[in-house]
Amino acid sequence: MKKIILLGPPGAGKGTQASRLVALLGVPHISTGDMVREAINAHTDLGEAIKKYSDKGLLVPDEIIITLLAKRLKEPDCKKGFILDGFPRTLEQAEALDRISKIDVAINLKVPDEVMIQRLSNRLTCKKCGGIYNRLTLKPKKDNLCDECDGELHQREDDKPEVVQERLNVYRKKTKPLIEYYKRRSLLKDVHCNNLMTPPEETFEKIRSIVDNAAKKKARVR
Ligand SMILES: [Zn+2]
Repeated sequence: MKKIILLGPPGAGKGTQASRLVALLGVPHISTGDMVREAINAHTDLGEAIKKYSDKGLLVPDEIIITLLAKRLKEPDCKKGFILDGFPRTLEQAEALDRISKIDVAINLKVPDEVMIQRLSNRLTCKKCGGIYNRLTLKPKKDNLCDECDGELHQREDDKPEVVQERLNVYRKKTKPLIEYYKRRSLLKDVHCNNLMTPPEETFEKIRSIVDNAAKKKARVR
């Protein structure tokens, strides 16, 4: 059983690492963002309830997300475990998750603010297809044009350095109690990515050994 949470600020590369873990472990990647979009598109009761909030620009209440998540985690593909990304974000959500399912390890991607700012402020987004590039690490073939659709590349408003810094401040303040919670339960494992140029494979190797060790530890406890 491998129940893994991925923590880290938006833009730290959680998505990339999650898809590698999926390939390695054969367990589903569960993103609450995707779950919410699927529920809305499927017009389920919960989907309709969510739509009411999002149409008004309101945050979807935790109870709804948790109900949705509890249902999702009962599906057969989660029997062997899951990778949770984007949830929990707060202490209250972590406590609610604990009541649904006991996680094995919380992997915390730690990226210094200056590295995050460097990464995000060099990010370019395609105006047409939303494709993502980076002036330093993932350059488009032609300057300022999307490789896929030839659309124009631009810097999103929220990728500007001062906005990124503010987002990081908000993120750290909100997640601090959450991080402490997993630390107290000895479930937290930090993975440091101190350099922008560190290839994702290198970070993944660290994650892989953490997951291996967590599995061994669990086997011993049993
Ligand atoms: Zn494009």
